[in-house]
Amino acid sequence: MQARELVEHVRAARENGQALWIAGNGSRLAPPEEMQTLPLSGFSGIVEYDPGELAITVRCGTPLAELEATVAEAGQTLGFEAPGRDTGTVGGMLACGRSGPARPWLGDVRGAVLGVAMINGAGELLRFGGRVMKNVAGYDLSRLQCGAYGIFGPVLEVSLRTRPAPPVQRCLVRPCPLEKAVKEMADLQHRPWPIAGLAWWEGMLHLRLWGMASGVAEAAAAFGGEEEGEEFWQVLREERHPGQRDWRLLVPPAAELAELQGTWLIDWGGGRRWYQGDAPAEAVQAAARAVGGLAEPWPFTPFAGLSEDALALHHRLKAAFDPAGLFNPGLLPGEAR
Ligand SMILES: Cc1cc2nc3c(=O)[nH]c(=O)nc-3n(C[C@H](O)[C@H](O)[C@H](O)COP(=O)(O)OP(=O)(O)OC[C@H]3O[C@@H](n4cnc5c(N)ncnc54)[C@H](O)[C@@H]3O)c2cc1C
Repeated sequence: MQARELVEHVRAARENGQALWIAGNGSRLAPPEEMQTLPLSGFSGIVEYDPGELAITVRCGTPLAELEATVAEAGQTLGFEAPGRDTGTVGGMLACGRSGPARPWLGDVRGAVLGVAMINGAGELLRFGGRVMKNVAGYDLSRLQCGAYGIFGPVLEVSLRTRPAPPVQRCLVRPCPLEKAVKEMADLQHRPWPIAGLAWWEGMLHLRLWGMASGVAEAAAAFGGEEEGEEFWQVLREERHPGQRDWRLLVPPAAELAELQGTWLIDWGGGRRWYQGDAPAEAVQAAARAVGGLAEPWPFTPFAGLSEDALALHHRLKAAFDPAGLFNPGLLPGEAR
């Protein structure tokens, strides 16, 4: 499949007043029944990768697993760990913008984006940013595509920063009661450790270390506990952990939320938490707001956590990129299908 064919597909849909559902592998978000899809999974492959430049350019239909394997072969990593490793495409990764358990320490998908090529609602092929370094004149429109769920248009190609893979990885676990978990996590994060994951579940504190052998050994000895495999972190990454239920709260890591009684899974060293309990929805949302955070029902709906101001901004951007409402209509709350 060529970029030109995708451009022609969009132009024809525009002329016919036909809406288009942008589909990666369709693993998570299926189109409304009657809607025509713009399938991108056939538009795949690595466009350019020079490990020395610490940057890779890839077509968006490429399986996420292929992208990760390509950089791993060169002794590199993306840093972030998007879910959908077995099923998703790079376009789905970018559009959903989810970054995994290492995010507070290694950064997110959005931060790794150097540039994109995409089609707008006028059927124009546009390029923003650069391929090997952030190269932005005016507004940085490439990073806006991250977390946009495709509403601004199909992204055909993305350039991402890569980084050297850590030579040593170790996962440790030790007991810690819930009452002490948040404070304990805050203390651990003040230490100069190569942390790549810090989470709490069912009375156990899980620590993942990625780094040079000496730094990892020193941190592991100070933390204590027992070695464990990668599985806990892989399940968390794929958002398939039994504790990932009902409510997701994004809060300042040290925030205490003792008023919400129930079951907790705490990730990102305290910054991302899942809550299951009897507290009514208003109480959960008020508790998150009171500490300067937000709470959203889980499993999530795209854009559900947006404030009114952020939603208004999305509508203005949508009007600029796709004034006729060609792409993924109805996905943005308040927009007609
Ligand atoms: C509603 C929803 C629920 C999810 N729930 C979970 C979950 O429970 N666990 C989990 O691990 N992950 C979840 N995810 C994330 C998902 O697993 C990953 O994002 C996955 O990689 C999706 O890849 P895909 O290619 O199958 O995308 P698709 O399912 O095909 O598309 C997902 C979204 O990305 C857009 N999109 C896809 N490709 C492009 C492109 N090239 N340009 C622009 N937009 C594009 C689509 O329009 C759609 O809005 C969820 C995502 C969504 C949207």
